Amino acid sequence: MSSKEAAAKIRPIKPFDPSDLDEEHILTSWDTPMRTDAFELSDDEKIDKIEKHFRDIMITLGLDLTDDSLSGTPRRVAKMFVKEVFSGLNPKNRPIARLFENKYNYDQMLVEKDITFYSHCEHHFVPIYGKAHVAYFSGGKVIGLSKINRIVQYYAKRPQVQERLTVQIGRELERVLHTESVAVVMDANHMCVASRGVGDTNSKTGTAYFNGKFKDENVKREFLNYINASK
Ligand SMILES: [Zn+2]
Repeated sequence: MSSKEAAAKIRPIKPFDPSDLDEEHILTSWDTPMRTDAFELSDDEKIDKIEKHFRDIMITLGLDLTDDSLSGTPRRVAKMFVKEVFSGLNPKNRPIARLFENKYNYDQMLVEKDITFYSHCEHHFVPIYGKAHVAYFSGGKVIGLSKINRIVQYYAKRPQVQERLTVQIGRELERVLHTESVAVVMDANHMCVASRGVGDTNSKTGTAYFNGKFKDENVKREFLNYINASK
């Protein structure tokens, strides 16, 4: 499916309304459900525990872990979970966004499109991957472009559902940029749809978050035209 077709199938999400929460740390439906003891263990302790459990899973599946090729897998998987693919669960890994004065007084839409992301579906723990397209209007400050990529990667590195991922990125951009005028569109492939279950390898899922000026149809269309323009 082209990104144009994907955009036509976007599932709109209710924009974040700041009156939904009094303080930033109050849990909302868009927060990843976390246990209160989530960070009592260190990363190394988590890796040791997951290694043991993953070894059990492999043994239960009937695999012979004395085989050279398999013997290191439990530890490799445990490290990958904690340090890489799920590192976005830990707030200590949240990117620190340095802001710059918008000294050129650029007051138009800023778009960063085709940000590649890799995530995991929280229902099957298999990959979700695709492109994120982000836009905002400066509220007086601007952000380094690579920081937008880092924010996308941080929230992608969690077990996710695509709708929540989209809103978490949108809300974080609003917070760091001090503006409500943020848009996020995500086109993704879900391996749990492509490789198992219904086995549909062609379908893509689109999600979108539009807030502030992007609630205006003309502004929204300008952004969607921009991301659908040939590269
Ligand atoms: Zn899934």
